[in-house]
This record gives sequence, C-alpha cells and structure tokens, in this order.
Amino acid sequence: PAPTPSPTPDPATGAAVKAMDRAHVFHSWSAQGLIDPLAVAGAEGAYFWDYDGNRYLDFSSQLVNTNIGHQHPKVVAAVREQAAKLCTIAPGFAVDVRSEAARLIAERTPGDLDKIFFTNGGAEAVENAVRMARLHTGRPKVLSAYRSYHGATAAAINLTGDPRRWPSDTASAGVVHFWGPFLYRSPFHSADERQECERALAHLEETIAFEGPQSIAAIILETVPGTAGIMVPPPGYLAGVREICDRYGIVFVLDEVMAGFGRTGHWFAADHFGVTPDLLTFAKGVNSGYVPLGGVAISARIAADFDQRPYPGGLTYSGHPLACASAVATINAMAEEGIVENAAEIGEKVIGPGLREIAERHPSVGEVRGLGVFWALDLVKSKETREPLVPYNASGPANQPMAEFAAACKRGGLWPFVNMNRTHVVPPCTITEAEAKEGLAILDEALSAADAHTV
Ligand code: PLP
Repeated sequence: PAPTPSPTPDPATGAAVKAMDRAHVFHSWSAQGLIDPLAVAGAEGAYFWDYDGNRYLDFSSQLVNTNIGHQHPKVVAAVREQAAKLCTIAPGFAVDVRSEAARLIAERTPGDLDKIFFTNGGAEAVENAVRMARLHTGRPKVLSAYRSYHGATAAAINLTGDPRRWPSDTASAGVVHFWGPFLYRSPFHSADERQECERALAHLEETIAFEGPQSIAAIILETVPGTAGIMVPPPGYLAGVREICDRYGIVFVLDEVMAGFGRTGHWFAADHFGVTPDLLTFAKGVNSGYVPLGGVAISARIAADFDQRPYPGGLTYSGHPLACASAVATINAMAEEGIVENAAEIGEKVIGPGLREIAERHPSVGEVRGLGVFWALDLVKSKETREPLVPYNASGPANQPMAEFAAACKRGGLWPFVNMNRTHVVPPCTITEAEAKEGLAILDEALSAADAHTV
C-alpha cells in the first residue's frame, strides 16, 4: 500500500511533546544537554513523520530493526488480539504464541539450532549465549572481534569491539579481542580476499594458542558485522572459524541480532556461508521491534546439557506473550509476502548497483559493501589514501563533515544511519524499488556535503 501522507501538521503538539521529553526523558547514548530529538507523530511502511509536516524515508530502519516496516497491519492486529486474550504470563508456563514463535524460528535457523531461549532484546541474548557457553565448557574466556557491536549490558559491552566499550571497560575479565577480516582496511595488509581470509584465520589460531585453548569457552562473531561497518567476510572465513572451534572444543556463537531475519536477503546471514554455529543470537528483525524480543537459538548438543540440570538464567518477561505474538505474525507475514526475497532482489538489482554508481560520482565514497538491504558507504578524505572522512571516534567539530552530510539527508527527506565515517543504507526489507530509488537520489545529492571535505 502507498504510504499515508504526513498528517496535518500540528507544531504546537510537537513542541509540547518535545518540551516534556527535554524535561523528563534521559536518553540513551547521549549528552542530555546537547541533543535535540525529533518529535515523531506517526509512521507507516518505510516512512515516519514529525508534527511539522516533514516526512522521512527511513534508510536506517530505526536501529536496523524495522525489517517489516512500520505499522504492518498483520503485526498490529496480532498484538491487539493477543492483548485481548492474554497480556502476560510467567516464563515457566507453556503458551500457544510462545511455542509457535519458537517453532517458526527453529524451522528457519540453520542446522540443529532447534531450541529457543527467549530474551527481551539483543544484549540479553548475548549475555545468555556467553553464560551457556561457559557452563557448557567449564571454561572462562570468550574471544570477540574488534570492529564489532554486541550490546550495552555487562558482558555484551565488554565483548563489543568499538569505542562504546571504553567507558564501561572495568569488568572485561575473560574477554579477549582479535581482528577479523576487513580487506578495505586490512589489519593484515593483505592484497586480496583469499590472503585476508588466510591471515585472519592464522591470527585467530595464534590468539588461541597464546590464550590457551583449554581456557576458551566461546568465539563470538557477528556473521556480517553490522554497526561496525557491514563487512561481509571473505569466502571460507566463517567455515574456517567453525573448524577451529571444533578442533579446540570451543563454542561458536554467531550474533545475528542485526543481520538476521531477512536483512541480508536470507532468513539468516549464516545461510550465505553454509555455516552452522552452536548458538545463534537474534532480536530486532524477529518481530521488527514492535514489542521487545530477542533470543538464543541453541544446538541440540548444548540444549541437552541442561536436560538434567537447571539453566541458571531468565527474566520476569522472558518470552512475553505480546512479543511472541508479534514474532509469529512478523515471520508469517515475511514468508507470505516474500519479504526476504524482496530484500535480496532490491539489494542486488537496485541498491547495490545504485550505490556503486553513486560511488563513481563522489570523491568522498571510498568503498561500497554489503548485501540484501544491508549496505555501507565508507566515506574518505581521499580515495587514494583511504583516510576516513572523520577521525576514529570523532565528536563535536571533528565530526562536522558527517554532521553536515546527515543534515543534508534530512533536509532532503531521508533519515540516514550514520556511524563514524560511514553511512549505512539499511531500509526495511519491504522497501519498494521506487522508494529505494527515491532514497538513493536524496543520498546522491547529500553526498556533495561530504565531498566538500575531501582533499
Ligand atoms: N548484537 C548486535 C550484532 C547488534 O547489532 C546489537 C544492537 O545493535 C546488539 C547485539 C544489542 O541488541 P539490543 O540493543 O537489542 O540489546
């Protein structure tokens, strides 16, 4: 259906919402005095709008979670129906929507990941995956990659391999970081993908040797690292990590909180590589965030470990009925409406080629990479030196080029995803060809603001 036009502007209500927000809401990841949150009046499909009559095409899918778009009628109806039937029930009971959500997820996860532990989001899924791996192996350490994001709770933030970890890095006992493959900014100075893959695997082996394989419970990787730059791993890398894990009895955790549920053009990103982890974490796209939900898909072997001893974990709202009902409706709608196939097709035919064409026109676009509706533009000062357009972890005036680019997108009616020197093109999986082209045209124009800072 065509998106509803922005409703009649109501700036007075918008101003009141904003004033109340500024008075009482303490925002995440923000300096409270330096932010100016947009007051959102409504949303539908790939668009949302404010109270001033501005409508934005959402090229960020919020926090890369509205895979099915805003206000999908089937999901909204399912939440309503479930609310009328049973709003809440403790995790210890068997309930129709929870069982059905688990079945639908287990049917789609790779291999024998057939038991589902529900959480309220991604970080909590990571916390539990790590706990399961430690209990299963009796070992303490977890290896995770630099250039990664795994969430903001205790273990998850310590596993994270980006600057957001730094202020919380007081309890990182047991976490060891290593470098994954990333040819464009190769930590191994590789010449090609094959070499990058070989060297990254050798580096991981060496890290394991020096840490002591018998002390390592798990290796956790995003199948395709998302927030850190959408770096599609070279062929053979994930299979190589799988083999290393098997050799040393290490649990292999793939974090698909961002990459899962259609984002890459498959139900799971692991499907692109033919790799099955021992544990797979998910959230976001499982129900597009209509109600908070995440979870861990568990292999038969690890699940069996807890047949005769209790698994020590879970929260009051684990497997919440409203969240599970929205997951059932989301997964069914995605299957019925070919939404995963749409993500693959729009990525391959429209977004990928469109971005590559844009890159040729703009001196600020160093690299285009991605798949499905999961793309990054790596913005640079110079294509030759590949120096990032803004310094690593820049803020304030040092981040001006990216701020100007983001502002230009918004002026054009596009809501961008911007992180460090990158912009990610991560619209809903439901995006149409016309919408994708509309967004690419706005992006194309806004990139002139970034070009102005090239040398
Ligand atoms: N893991 C990955 C790969 C993510 O991208 C995120 C969030 O962006 C998380 C974990 C944390 O998820 P949540 O914010 O739902 O806790």
